[in-house]
Amino acid sequence: MRIILLGAPGSGKGTQAQRLAERRGIPQISTGDLLRAAVARGSELGRAAKAAMDAGRLVDDSLVLGLIRERLAEDDARGGFILDGFPRNLSQARSLDTLLAELAQPLDAVVQLEVASAELVRRISGRRSCADCGRVFNLLTAPPPTGAAAVCPKTGAPHRLFQRPDDNEATVSERLRVYEEQTRPLIDFYRARGILRSIDAQGELDAVTQRLAAALGAQTPPPPARMRKTPAARRAPHRRKASAARHRRPKARASTRPPEHRRKKTPIRAARKKRAPPRGARKSARRRPRR
Ligand SMILES: [Zn+2]
Repeated sequence: MRIILLGAPGSGKGTQAQRLAERRGIPQISTGDLLRAAVARGSELGRAAKAAMDAGRLVDDSLVLGLIRERLAEDDARGGFILDGFPRNLSQARSLDTLLAELAQPLDAVVQLEVASAELVRRISGRRSCADCGRVFNLLTAPPPTGAAAVCPKTGAPHRLFQRPDDNEATVSERLRVYEEQTRPLIDFYRARGILRSIDAQGELDAVTQRLAAALGAQTPPPPARMRKTPAARRAPHRRKASAARHRRPKARASTRPPEHRRKKTPIRAARKKRAPPRGARKSARRRPRR
């Protein structure tokens, strides 16, 4: 299954992607990791990426797409993938669509993880990463394992946790603002394609994992445009109806989505008015480097 998880910083996207990758046996493809690996390898794309990063520029979308293309050609991505950290805006989403169409590997699902803004801020402040293996933990919601399981796969010693500099409160509101402005439009983009699913990503980590599994387990009805292209369906309209009924969502799915009035709300924007620093401070706040 080819999946994108969409969610604001602090929505638990990374943790849920890790879990999903383990359960489904498909790779979690992080564009940040791809960039770092390419730079370390010194490949052509890697050298171009390094030049951009050294000059303080954002890495070109075309370059990131090149890395994704290379990564998707690897064996372990045949059964699907979870794309992490990309796309972050509409232009990237369109480029990705084009690439996946060329590869004949269209997305199966985009899952939106919904979390209220106050909870996002609380979660981000608890976030810690391992300096050695890069795994992300959360002191509040996903603490690192203790005892024998507490071993870092890279070093064999306990994980060395640190707080990313852009996880402090001042930069968090800026990152949430960027998410609202740049990434939230992707929700409508993927909804229009008929592959968007939304889950309530608050509460217990395991409960969210279950809601995510339920959302992915259910078949979405195929988009009408594709059904119209099927010659058999065109010749026999009654078969279209039967097929649509087969693909109709089971009733249980409804509970994994918040009601319409909740989905339309943008709690972050409301909270921003209170939380955002004055204009000048906001401008100087360092943006999170794109992964
Ligand atoms: Zn580690």
